[in-house]
Amino acid sequence: MCGIVAYIGPRKAHEVIIKGLKRLEYRGYDSAGIALLNGSLNIYKKKGRVSDLENTLEDEKLASRVGIGHTRWATHGEPNDENAHPHYSFSKNLAIIHNGIIENYSSLKQELLNKGYSFKSETDSEVFIQFIEDIQVNNDCSLEEAVRLALTKVVGAYAIVIMSKDDPNMLIAARKGSPLVIGIGKDEFFLASDATPIIEYTNEVVYLNDYEIAIIDNNELRLKNTQDVASTPYIQTLDMELEAIEKGGYEHFMLKEIFEQPRSISDCMRGRLNANKGRLVLGGIREYANKLVNADRIIIVACGTSWHAGLVAEYFFEEFCRVPVEVEYASEFRYRNPIIKEGDVMIAISQSGETADTLAAIELAKSKGAIIFGVCNVVGSSIARVSHEGAYTHAGPEIGVASTKAFTAQLTVLSMIALRVAHKKGTITERRYHELLVEMENIPSKVEKALELDAQIKLVAERFKDAKNFLYLGRGYNFPVALEGALKLKEISYIHAEGYPAAEMKHGPIALIDEEMPVVFIATRDSSYDKVVSNIQEVKARKGKVIAVVTEGDALIPKMAEFVIEVPKTDEALMPMVSVIPLQLLSYYIAVMRDCNVDQPRNLAKSVTVE
Ligand code: GLU
Repeated sequence: MCGIVAYIGPRKAHEVIIKGLKRLEYRGYDSAGIALLNGSLNIYKKKGRVSDLENTLEDEKLASRVGIGHTRWATHGEPNDENAHPHYSFSKNLAIIHNGIIENYSSLKQELLNKGYSFKSETDSEVFIQFIEDIQVNNDCSLEEAVRLALTKVVGAYAIVIMSKDDPNMLIAARKGSPLVIGIGKDEFFLASDATPIIEYTNEVVYLNDYEIAIIDNNELRLKNTQDVASTPYIQTLDMELEAIEKGGYEHFMLKEIFEQPRSISDCMRGRLNANKGRLVLGGIREYANKLVNADRIIIVACGTSWHAGLVAEYFFEEFCRVPVEVEYASEFRYRNPIIKEGDVMIAISQSGETADTLAAIELAKSKGAIIFGVCNVVGSSIARVSHEGAYTHAGPEIGVASTKAFTAQLTVLSMIALRVAHKKGTITERRYHELLVEMENIPSKVEKALELDAQIKLVAERFKDAKNFLYLGRGYNFPVALEGALKLKEISYIHAEGYPAAEMKHGPIALIDEEMPVVFIATRDSSYDKVVSNIQEVKARKGKVIAVVTEGDALIPKMAEFVIEVPKTDEALMPMVSVIPLQLLSYYIAVMRDCNVDQPRNLAKSVTVE
């Protein structure tokens, strides 16, 4: 996830590009860079925001009419000046901007190293451009052909734009899996990750399809695919407000992020999990992998939604890895003189990687000799840096303050770690391991299906938007989902909500139930289903209003509940990734109907960097 912008035409390229990058900054903001042809092919790039880059550019020297620019959301290599895009090829004749992940970059890199190439950055993107140049040199072919041949060899996701020192009238772009749109003006072309940088100049656009290559040469646009078959560009006319496009047409970032989850979960598994080959690799957990396998207990620390992901992980690790797990609020853990032994294993979870209490808990555990594994979304963040090893969630920037896609990506990473450990330890059968790998690959399409419940959930929201309290109940893997559903509602709609293990209800919260009280049961078909059905009866007997999230085809609960929301069937251990979706949507719609500021709820901040 990053923003890319390129321009070729009569204007000053750097002005168009810098302005465009600012519009795309929501897509990534850990570094920014631009390549221009002014005498030679020059790259200007810098860690930090686009405005930091802009301040270093001296306007009068930048007369280029062609250029490419990038605002990065790091996946390979920490955010620093060297890893920022654009990247030169070895000879410095070519420059690339890239959005995505090249999965087979390490084998390509090794091949190139063997041939004597060297690299300035740790990125997969630099490997990509050097690989293209190597093909061009070896085959003595055009740049266009070299790009095409390279694309038949790279595995992964990309949107790229390449410029060449030798050809000031040409830009080459391609996409697979990452967005790229081409704006067509009068004698000029704009390329960008979405239409926001383009819309003020032209509303004629061509959306590039997967495996398509666009060649803009001497004021002409040609398209072909990686099999060398040409096609005619399909020009669309955009009719959109700027503001709407930044949010991809969604009213709020939170809704956009909820709907991004099929994609963000896939991104999180990309290059790591392949059920067909029985393959599960986590590049960030190598040297210390055995510490996890041999741990006699695991401590998980986190705050807020990440803590809920930790609770799901507790169930998962204990079931499959047969290791005791303690899930701690970082803020409590750090102040109570916890017992930590040399070699203990801690997993720290944080979307931003900057959560102050979690960082402090890590420092404390580290000082006592613990081995720390970080699970963060933001590459190069403080937690990623202080952890011994870890795995990124690769969910892309999360802008809505209420976390949604980061949560499901955390569950994805934590499940992958646990399955890897269980397999190594031999605490899971081959059959079960394989079953879970296959089912994990199915999760994005099941989440997609759960998102189709949107219209139905609006009706539930309409019915209960004026409630003063809500109760969320679930058991087993769905208990943390109940906590998460209640937290989402509190955060953005300011309705008081409590999450409880369904059976605990009898020990207190049942006293709250009357005919006014909406009770959300997460009652999917699993090992505690019958017990949850009894709990629903108990609520019904006290006239509570039951909203039940059930597995598709459930015949029993619809007879008891006022509203039934059916989600696709999946493995009990993976259900939280699916069953949380309707709860995210419910809180969103209730908040919108109550006129709340969904993306910036009162009193909250996205990244809690104070204790
Ligand atoms: N994989 C590339 C990197 O880490 C591109 C990331 C992006 O899409 O911003 O630099």
